[in-house]
Amino acid sequence: MRRILINDITLRDGEQSPGVNFFPEEKLEIAKRLRAMGVPIIEAGFAAASESDWNGINLIARELGADDAAPVICSMCRANEKDIAAAHEALRPARRPRIQVVLSTSDLHMKYKLQITREQALEIADRTVRYARSLVEDVEFAAEDATRTDLDFLLKVFEVAVKAGARTIEIPDTVGFATPIDYTTIVSATVERVKLAGGAIVATHCHDDLGLAAANTLAGIAAGAGQAEVTVNGIGERAGNAALEEVVMALRTRPTIFDADTGIDVGGITAISKLVSKLSRMAVAPNKAIVGYNAFRHESGIHQHGMLVNSLTYQIIEPSDVGAEPFNLVIGKLSGKHALKSKIESLGLDVSNAGFDKVYREFKDLAAKKKLLMDEDIVNLVTKVLGETAGRKTSVETSLG
Ligand code: MN
Repeated sequence: MRRILINDITLRDGEQSPGVNFFPEEKLEIAKRLRAMGVPIIEAGFAAASESDWNGINLIARELGADDAAPVICSMCRANEKDIAAAHEALRPARRPRIQVVLSTSDLHMKYKLQITREQALEIADRTVRYARSLVEDVEFAAEDATRTDLDFLLKVFEVAVKAGARTIEIPDTVGFATPIDYTTIVSATVERVKLAGGAIVATHCHDDLGLAAANTLAGIAAGAGQAEVTVNGIGERAGNAALEEVVMALRTRPTIFDADTGIDVGGITAISKLVSKLSRMAVAPNKAIVGYNAFRHESGIHQHGMLVNSLTYQIIEPSDVGAEPFNLVIGKLSGKHALKSKIESLGLDVSNAGFDKVYREFKDLAAKKKLLMDEDIVNLVTKVLGETAGRKTSVETSLG
């Protein structure tokens, strides 16, 4: 199996989510969990962006990045000497510092944002990667807006960056414009060109503007990328980045498709999702893959019946594998007899078959009228239909005993 390196960018791109500000101590708390899960690369921030960012990177480099087994700690930089020098300073305590140099390469960005020509871009890429390499061994080069860059020119820039010493070549789909079809083309061509230029790991970096970030990341991995840049809960600029939990679990759930693994301890996924949600103050949508509240809950009768017989019928991930609660049957108007009976029993009630049919009829009436049925509603229904003492399985003696 191929090993795919996870570069978690929650603390950098994730922090660029509108309204999110991680304090340095909070970044350290998240980074500790990432390290505990075995994430090999942590992009801790953008050193030149603010004093707080510099402090966060430096704190992580000192507290978490200084020993022999430490993960790679990375800072993003624009392609200029000042940013690179700031990153180098912040990363000084790290055992494995990485400097990431980002330069826009699409005609649109070069003309309107940077006001540079293609020739100037090639010169800047060469000069800044060489400068970064004079400071650290591990340099990553990213071509911002790569997926809207002329492909021949993009490959030329990547060739220059590899020859200047970049060890990782990142292909950002900065605005979430790519589909798995064109991202595959770009990654395949890059893998080939990078090999000819002397070799480097190719990295994905995908945004979710069209809801394709995880799909594009997986397409990139299938096309030969060896590193995936992801964030916990998929937070990030605008619609966010590819979600760590989605990419990692897709590779793990479908090994015959990708023949690739991340080596991440997925048991920490639920806990880190909750931590990032709390510190970013960004709620996770209930229907979010893997970490959403409903990810392992079932309400329709057909599915509930299947789940009660064998959970493989409607569930492809064992919740405990990602540190989540066991699957949960939600009782509502679509629930069938099997689920209601199992629910009633789980509440410590015991009803005869004849009694149950009466309860089930009343339940269907009640469920149609309520948005949400709570456990108390079920208890009240059973006692209303069958009488106050009906079916209480747990007697005083047994509960004392
Ligand atoms: Mn980004």
